[in-house]
Amino acid sequence: MSRQDIDIAYFRSLLEGRREEVLTRRDELRKASGTVDLDQARVGRLSRMDALQQQALAKAADSRWVSELQRIDSALVRIRTGEYGCCQLCGEDIAQKRLVADPGVATCITCAGLKEKT
Ligand SMILES: [Zn+2]
Repeated sequence: MSRQDIDIAYFRSLLEGRREEVLTRRDELRKASGTVDLDQARVGRLSRMDALQQQALAKAADSRWVSELQRIDSALVRIRTGEYGCCQLCGEDIAQKRLVADPGVATCITCAGLKEKT
């Protein structure tokens, strides 16, 4: 349970806004990569490598959106369970300015730093 006094409603609305944005961007991306497939049939073999490369890029971008969505969803779960604002690794409070900068963040700056170094 987080000990710090944070405005849960504010962070919930940040997360929900971000969630909408991610869903929209992901849908746009999926529509756009669907167009790539259709074009591929018309442009023939020479552009096949390009199309495959584009497809790979779209796939990578798509999985980034999916993991961002999972991050947001688990932050929303932590809001419901009262764990929001707590580092998921050490249990310490996460600095509010860190949460404002990235409301989906799940670890304090110390643990994030350790994680990046290893
Ligand atoms: Zn921590």
